[in-house]
Amino acid sequence: MSGTRRLIVAVDGPAAAGKGTLARALAETLGLPYLDTGLLYRAVARRVLDQGKNPAECGAEQARVLQTEDLQRDDLRASEVDRAASLVARQPSVRAALLERQREFGQAHGAVVDGRDIGTVVFPNADVKLFITASPEVRAQRRYKQRHGVLCDDPALLAEEVAALVARDEQDASRAVSPLRPADNAIQILTDDLGAEAVLHRALDVLRDRGLYSHS
Ligand code: C5P
Repeated sequence: MSGTRRLIVAVDGPAAAGKGTLARALAETLGLPYLDTGLLYRAVARRVLDQGKNPAECGAEQARVLQTEDLQRDDLRASEVDRAASLVARQPSVRAALLERQREFGQAHGAVVDGRDIGTVVFPNADVKLFITASPEVRAQRRYKQRHGVLCDDPALLAEEVAALVARDEQDASRAVSPLRPADNAIQILTDDLGAEAVLHRALDVLRDRGLYSHS
């Protein structure tokens, strides 16, 4: 435990790079609340799809009425929601509607927050900014394993996963508002050859170097 209250740790990066795994572990180690901001965009996308509307042009209505139950649905990680969330997230009005919610969450008690624009837009003054990356192939295997419980041994299927991830990253990185990019002062961690424990240790080393975490 850092002993520091209201510490904000921003964890950004592309899809399936290991942000969520790291952010959850960091939150537990530091005794901080954890916020997965991707879930907010997914829940908005789910509502838009359920209403038969176009996620690319839906506007902020569904973001404004988002309820806690929407975040608890078990169908937010379907691949149709991956695509729709990224389209919903390109719209400035949707991002604006979700911004305060994210800030309020962190301001009360501090937090570890993962997403795409946490260090650049949501918490530009975060105490620590981490940018987690991995190659598309490694990320595609991780995503496949998350969904199916085993590694993918079909090259064609894996190539499809890679293409979907790369397309989503391009969409996230090319948008006009809050594009996916490392904050200027973010520490980048490449996780291709690192397990979850090793990534956590790297992140804790960063906090320790800044006097924000004191356990060995
Ligand atoms: O992190 P996750 O893959 O669940 O995010 C789903 C989508 O939500 C992303 O592809 C991205 O378009 C959007 N997102 C965002 N900003 C965030 C978090 C997620 O634009 N802070």
